[in-house]
Amino acid sequence: MHALSHPDFPVIDAHVHLYPDALAPKVTPSLAARFGNAPSFDGTVDGCRAKDEAVGIAAALNLPVATKPDSVSHTNDFWAGVNAAERTRTPRIHSLAAFHPLVADKGAEIERIAAAGFAGIKLHPEYQLFRFNDPAMDDAWAALAEFGLVAYLHAGGERVFTPPFHSTPREIARLQARFPKLTIVAAHLGGFGMWDEAEATLVGSDVVLDLSHTFFWMDDAQILRMIRNHGAEKILFGSDAPWQDPGEVLEAFLRLPLSDSERQRICSANARELLGIF
Ligand SMILES: [Zn+2]
Repeated sequence: MHALSHPDFPVIDAHVHLYPDALAPKVTPSLAARFGNAPSFDGTVDGCRAKDEAVGIAAALNLPVATKPDSVSHTNDFWAGVNAAERTRTPRIHSLAAFHPLVADKGAEIERIAAAGFAGIKLHPEYQLFRFNDPAMDDAWAALAEFGLVAYLHAGGERVFTPPFHSTPREIARLQARFPKLTIVAAHLGGFGMWDEAEATLVGSDVVLDLSHTFFWMDDAQILRMIRNHGAEKILFGSDAPWQDPGEVLEAFLRLPLSDSERQRICSANARELLGIF
């Protein structure tokens, strides 16, 4: 294996999980114990920046998960403040907004999220116990599409929960068919641990797929085939840091026999165009 040269475009890690400084010293170790997996840094914004600087990543997108509806607005106030403070920093951290399926007035909350300058929301049905096609979510999808916000979805299985899972590739394909104007990003190549179903139902669709928690968990040949068949213009580089090491994930990505222009799309241009913030 020859040495990998670092790409000459700014790499954006589109999938990280960060916690406020006041919570990270408790939350990161407790999640580490639950996942059975040591974090690659302490889970703070500054910890992420130091790690990204060390491994040559230029920016990271944080995906906050609200586990209760009444934590959505203060979580978003916190991350809006971080986003404002981060504008001039490098590596830069940007956060999407949190959301929860039990928020009462979904349209109003999404309007507030849009007004605060967020590029989209993160949803995680395994923690939030809902299905993407529950009719109760339809107002939220319609508002996201109306405001041009991204729906960034956890997809597939999750190590700390047991099947049946809520967020299957089929559910995501159905959601995209019901809301064709909605921009959907499905994490983990469309379904962690459900890659054959994702390949059959999402590859070739308009759903954008990220690469977090795919390397070291599935066959590189299937990753490469899914990228090629889906189209590099609909794939985002992401690591799931601190729950994977972003440097190791980037190295694994760079080992795939992709062209420089495919790498540049996946690591940089797609995230910039989709989110409009980096
Ligand atoms: Zn994640």
